[in-house]
Amino acid sequence: MSKFKAIRIDKDASGYRATYSEFDESELMDGDVTVRVSHSTVNYKDGLAITGKNPVVRRFPMIPGIDFAGVVESSSHPDFKPGDAVVLNGWGCGETHFGGYAQKARVKGDWLVPLPKAFTAAQSMAIGTAGYTAALAVLALEKQGMTPDRGPVLVTGAAGGVGSIAIALLATAGWRVIASTGRKEEADFLTYLGASEIIDRAELSAPGKPLGKERWAAAVDAVGSHTLANVLAQTSYEGAVAACGLAQGMDLTTSVAPFILRGVCLLGIDSVMKPKAVRLRAWERLARDLDQTKLAELSQTIGFYKIMDTAADILQGKVRGRVIVEIG
Ligand code: NDP
Repeated sequence: MSKFKAIRIDKDASGYRATYSEFDESELMDGDVTVRVSHSTVNYKDGLAITGKNPVVRRFPMIPGIDFAGVVESSSHPDFKPGDAVVLNGWGCGETHFGGYAQKARVKGDWLVPLPKAFTAAQSMAIGTAGYTAALAVLALEKQGMTPDRGPVLVTGAAGGVGSIAIALLATAGWRVIASTGRKEEADFLTYLGASEIIDRAELSAPGKPLGKERWAAAVDAVGSHTLANVLAQTSYEGAVAACGLAQGMDLTTSVAPFILRGVCLLGIDSVMKPKAVRLRAWERLARDLDQTKLAELSQTIGFYKIMDTAADILQGKVRGRVIVEIG
């Protein structure tokens, strides 16, 4: 197959547009491993890239898709040989390097991790960058010394991808999980995943006071903006907040009060450039602690030609949990 189907993003005098298209293998970018992509997923960032709402894509034309799973077709990298099952998250794929919404991808072998034995390719994309980031956030809280005996943990953006997998991982680790959501109708789903308490995200989304009642020892925040400011203001003494998202906004208007009066720690989570050793730890954690029945329950499968509709839906908060894309 020298021709393969892919989504193509262009930006020129006639504007920014994503189209279902076809590429030739000769157009693939540099890399020492070529992968036949079987599955990808739709993360929030993919929604931003496809709609052009944020400047995620920084080279044109681009094949979007920040992650994929597939099988190595050819490789000159010492760690990978044809037939190996692999997963990629981030490293600028779908931003500056051709990404996962294509039947083929060529990338640096250093960017790939072996598909964890616990998961199929489809399951690895049910987890995707959102789930791997949730695991990074949990690891960061633990590295900071956070343990369930300190009190509850809050998860914002609870019914989304990062949120739902964070809830499942934290509940398995023994935390009492408070889930913040704007979707009351998902309360049973969040409880099933492991949440002990559900709060309305409206409690956190408006500008608040520099300090509030101490309500949680730790938090995983996928929302940013006023929500993150309020999360910090209500974190208990020497607690920690892992900030990974911007679903409400990229802004953060807060004060130093939580930091200097309560010793609260704000932990930044970036999944894109994370060194391989930490990636492997995150995947090991997912393999160990993520209940596969819950994973199936929080994910849905779509075909390649549904990617663009789903990208628009995820930005409107209409996607529950995770989406697996069968590239086919
Ligand atoms: P999802 O769309 O699946 O989840 C986001 C959730 O945030 C929604 O489901 C919704 O949850 C909540 N939300 C949406 N809009 C608002 C709003 N205006 N105010 C408050 N809450 C809102 O996205 P993902 O889980 O894939 O990603 C979540 C965030 O994490 C994104 O900003 C994404 O860019 C970021 N991210 C960052 C990474 C990194 O490396 N730092 C890696 C992966 C993701 P509910 O309906 O429950 O209220």
